[in-house]
Amino acid sequence: MSHRCLSHLEAVARAATVRNLAYALDVDLTTGDELFRTVTTVRFTADPGAETFLEARPEHLLGATLNGVALPADAFAEGRLRLADLAADNTVVVTAEYAYTRTSEGVHRFTDPADKQVYVYAQPSITDAPRFMACFDQPDLKAPVTLSVTADPSWLVRANAEGVQATPGRWEFPATKPVATYLITFVAGPYVELTDSHDGIPLGLYARASYTEVLERDAPEIFSLTKAFLDRYHELFGLRYPFGKYDQAFVPEFSWGAMEFPGCVVFRDELLFRAAVTDTERLERAAVIAHEMAHMWFGDLVTMRWWDDLWLNESFATYMGYRLVAEVTPWPQSWTRFGVGRKAWGYVADQRPSTHPIAPTEVVDTDAAFANFDGISYAKGCSALRQLVAFIGDEAFLAGLRAHFDKHAWGNATLADLLGALSQASGRDLDAWAQAWLRTPQVNTLRPVIEWAPDGSYASVTVQQTASQEYPTLRPHRIGLGWFDEDGAWQRTEVEVTGASTPVPQLSGVRGRGLLLNDGDFTFAKIRMDERTRAELPALLAEQPDSLARALRWNSAWDAVRDAEWPAIELVELAAGSLPAEPDVVIVESVFGLARYAATRMVPADRQEAARSALAGAARTLLATAAPGSGHQLAAARSLIATAADDDRAVLRGWLSGADVPAGLRVDAELRWAILGRLAVLGDVTEEEIDGELQRDTSDRGEQEAVRVRACRPDPAAKERAFDLVVTEQGQSNRIAVAAGDGLWQPAHAELTAPFVARYFAELPRSQGRSGDMLAHLAKAAYPVYAVSEDTLAAAQAALAGDMHPLLRRALADETDDLARSLRAQQAA
Ligand SMILES: [Zn+2]
Repeated sequence: MSHRCLSHLEAVARAATVRNLAYALDVDLTTGDELFRTVTTVRFTADPGAETFLEARPEHLLGATLNGVALPADAFAEGRLRLADLAADNTVVVTAEYAYTRTSEGVHRFTDPADKQVYVYAQPSITDAPRFMACFDQPDLKAPVTLSVTADPSWLVRANAEGVQATPGRWEFPATKPVATYLITFVAGPYVELTDSHDGIPLGLYARASYTEVLERDAPEIFSLTKAFLDRYHELFGLRYPFGKYDQAFVPEFSWGAMEFPGCVVFRDELLFRAAVTDTERLERAAVIAHEMAHMWFGDLVTMRWWDDLWLNESFATYMGYRLVAEVTPWPQSWTRFGVGRKAWGYVADQRPSTHPIAPTEVVDTDAAFANFDGISYAKGCSALRQLVAFIGDEAFLAGLRAHFDKHAWGNATLADLLGALSQASGRDLDAWAQAWLRTPQVNTLRPVIEWAPDGSYASVTVQQTASQEYPTLRPHRIGLGWFDEDGAWQRTEVEVTGASTPVPQLSGVRGRGLLLNDGDFTFAKIRMDERTRAELPALLAEQPDSLARALRWNSAWDAVRDAEWPAIELVELAAGSLPAEPDVVIVESVFGLARYAATRMVPADRQEAARSALAGAARTLLATAAPGSGHQLAAARSLIATAADDDRAVLRGWLSGADVPAGLRVDAELRWAILGRLAVLGDVTEEEIDGELQRDTSDRGEQEAVRVRACRPDPAAKERAFDLVVTEQGQSNRIAVAAGDGLWQPAHAELTAPFVARYFAELPRSQGRSGDMLAHLAKAAYPVYAVSEDTLAAAQAALAGDMHPLLRRALADETDDLARSLRAQQAA
């Protein structure tokens, strides 16, 4: 049903009206496959005579009363229930039927194809709590929630509070601590449970029955990380975990990575590893676990007042997540991963036309809040916090945080509250810092200007700072500068860059090579290198002992390619030459990804085959030298599969049938599907073979992969079907749609898919009936990323001139910006 999104002004007015709020939510999950029923009882006090409204988006409103009197029929419109003439003490009871979804919006219902078991979970997201209850859906109306759930007696039900099965199929949960509506959840189904406890905190892990073995295999690592993170947060924050038990549920088809529901964190169950993975994936999972746990304090205990501080929530949790992985896990290189993976996402987002300040001064409504949920919120904001910690020192940072938690526990707070606490703790005025870093968009470029003395030493070194024309802000950057000295040892000094030109006198007379700005990666800026360093890059990458410094060099090269300052083929050749000897698998995988992007989009069409071939060759070399069973071996195998052409077909076919498989390489379900997908692109897979593979792997992952592999086939009917799945059809799983989009476009199928480029721009914006968030998600999944041409750009711009949902427009505009950059890169070459 159509609904009106909530504006900030409405939220402010409502927060002033509604007091002493409490919810009782009674959920009945036994009313059928399509609809479920809930009764919400909302109690609050108000000034007599005042009026306000609740949000609710049911399929059928069965009854609504205010203080025992039925509300008039016209009180319900556009997803809002108008409450007029309030009493001092009010009770609203809303009984309604709501629809299950397949998109993680509201209550998601999933039938596992492996065993036909049914699983549900509630995901209120930013605006979807009204898809399962009547509520004041804004973050500063926190309230205790008393939940009861009726479900199949064989099911397990978990929620924010610790509940009991009072009678078969009837679960009762005591009132929670005050929580925001976006944090209310329940998870129900024949989930498998593993329990443990730590320091008095009960721990639970959950997954669907068909994942029992996977859960059991991964549980020791997940429990051990959970315990280490709890201990570390207790130390850092000086405040114990505040929500009683700590459950972590791995659920099917979750749209996001995870969600920080207090006491009951929900993760996408791809984070349970059913196939072999590398340390990159294990590190990222650990970072997600630590990220969600950080939210228990920052977000759940102390909550933003309005969505304008959503970035702060996410930046903070991202910062703490990577920090804790570096501090207390076996993956100290987590900042390397952040540097070469996440941070690149932030740089991209910050240079788009849609860029915005990290901390927007005004988020007018919930649609605007969704649009801001991007690389700037997560990655640039996280970098800004790292820069802040470098600026005020870790001790002051932690002291300020503790004071902030003490003062605002169970309530709401703003950026100004946090900055006040940090200013007080550090004795530094942070206004100028916040203005430069948080209130102005776009990224600075830092460039070394070196004058060489006749003897080859640095005569002088200056750091030059520039900004874009639209946003000419120069910022203060506390950075490290690293170089190799005459003995080949890595040296570092620090400098506070301010303004357009900052001399580094300590480097005058130094005989150094390979100067690296931002060594240690404490700031967020585009880093350029001098020409001698660029020329020596292959040697420098081989000699550089610190993986973070290597990541910075890669980022710098990647950025120069994106800006069309370097030809993309240079990055591809550098990757092909360097990666076989790269010791850190995190860099191997991240840089292979960047190089493939460059090879398929930014290298001119007539050189793409050479670029592909160079990357395939590098993958073969790495595969031949990697230790059996190592992450490097798996990364090499994946890269070879992704770049293979006809000359590698026999090798891939062999792996499928078990012939000549490199020792230690597990050709498991995920790798088999990857191989089939590539063979399908090469025109070497039949429908029957895909059916056969699906019989070996009856999981939902198998279903998704089968859709993707079918879409990979160079066959007009297969492309047509994929296009329908991702663009036209409604109601199927979001995962299936994304899988279809993934297979549809292939660099090698440009001619075959040419007709779909125009159709994409003509038809996608008309996919009504989907939420703005889902439209954006699918628009990205189906975008013709390899059709890099003036024609595609013109079609995109014509589409953008039409009417469409703002979230869809944002997604299209961002993808089109990438396309325009790729086109510039091709033209500059
Ligand atoms: Zn988060």
